[in-house]
Amino acid sequence: MANSTLQKLLIEYNQKKTLAEYKAQLKKIEIYEKAPQLKEIDDEISTLAISQTKSIILNYNANNLKKLEEQISILKNKKNKILQSLNLSLDDFNPVYECPICKDTGYVTDNYHTSMCSCLKQKLFDEEYNKSNIQQLSTQNFNSFSEALYSENVDEEKYHAKISPRENIKRIVKISHDFIDNFDDLETKNLLFTGNTGLGKTFLSSCIANELLKKHKNVLYQTAPIMLDSIVEYRFGKSSFDKAMYDHLLNVDLLIIDDLGTEYMNNVKFTELFNIINGRLLNPSHTVKTIISTNLSLNNLYDNYDERIVSRIVGNYTLCYFFGDDIRFKKR
Ligand SMILES: [Zn+2]
Repeated sequence: MANSTLQKLLIEYNQKKTLAEYKAQLKKIEIYEKAPQLKEIDDEISTLAISQTKSIILNYNANNLKKLEEQISILKNKKNKILQSLNLSLDDFNPVYECPICKDTGYVTDNYHTSMCSCLKQKLFDEEYNKSNIQQLSTQNFNSFSEALYSENVDEEKYHAKISPRENIKRIVKISHDFIDNFDDLETKNLLFTGNTGLGKTFLSSCIANELLKKHKNVLYQTAPIMLDSIVEYRFGKSSFDKAMYDHLLNVDLLIIDDLGTEYMNNVKFTELFNIINGRLLNPSHTVKTIISTNLSLNNLYDNYDERIVSRIVGNYTLCYFFGDDIRFKKR
C-alpha cells in the first residue's frame, strides 16, 4: 500500500481531530456564557481535584480525602442539575469525532498493542483500490432501495418462478439483512447474486457493504476482470498491486466480486479465482465473507468455470436469483 496515501490520510485525521476538539472548546465557551455558574462549578471541581492529588501524594489522610470526594460529588450533582435544566448533558462537552473508536487518530491500543483502526484501513482501501466504486457506496443504501420497482405480477413462463419479482426481491432483501445481522457467524453463508443486468445486484451489494461499514467491517470491492487481471500481473511482477493487496483479498471482512462472467478466462485465472474463493472459505484468522455477483445462471457457471470453483460456490453460498424487468429504465 502506498506510503504517501497513508501519510496524506494521517494529515487529514490530524486535522479532523483538531477541528473536533476545537469545536468542543467553542461549544464549552458557549455553554459557559449561557450558564456562568457552570464555569464556576467546573473551576471549583478542578481546584478540588488538584487538592485531591496533592493529598494522595504528599500527606495521605483518609478523612481529608473523603471530605474532598464528597465535595466534588456535590458539585457534580449540582452541575448535572443545571445541565438538565438547559437540556444538555455531559456529552455536550465532548468532541464529536468522526470515529468514536479511535477518536480520529486512526489507531487503537488494546492491551498495550497498537493497531490500525478499521476506519483508517477502510479509507486506505477506498483510496487505493475501491476508487470510484466506493463513492457510490455511500449513496447506495437500503433507504434508497425500492422494492416497488419490481413487478407484482407472477409470470412463470417468463421468469421460471412461481413468485412475482416483488416477492422475490423481498426475500433477497431479507436474506441480505440476515447476512448483515449474522455476519460474524461461521454458519452464515456467503452470497451469490445471479440474474440479468439492471436488476439491482450491484446496488444491493453496495447496500450491504454500507451497513457493514457502519459496523466497522472492512469492505473491498473489485470487479472480477480487474481483480483477476491484477492478480495475474502481480504473479508476473508487473503490477502496482502488491503482496499486501493480495493478502487483503484473502483477509478483508467482506470482499465483493462483481461482474463475474464478463472476464476473459484462462487456466491461470481459473486457478487464481479458485485460490481466492477457497482461501477465503478456509481463512484461519477470522470469519470473512464474500459476495459474488454474476449475470450467469448456475448452469452457465458450470459450463464456463472449473467444476472445483462452482462446487465451492454452490456448497458455501446462498443463491439469490434476481429476476424481473430492468429497473434502470423505471427509475428515469
Ligand atoms: Zn477509527
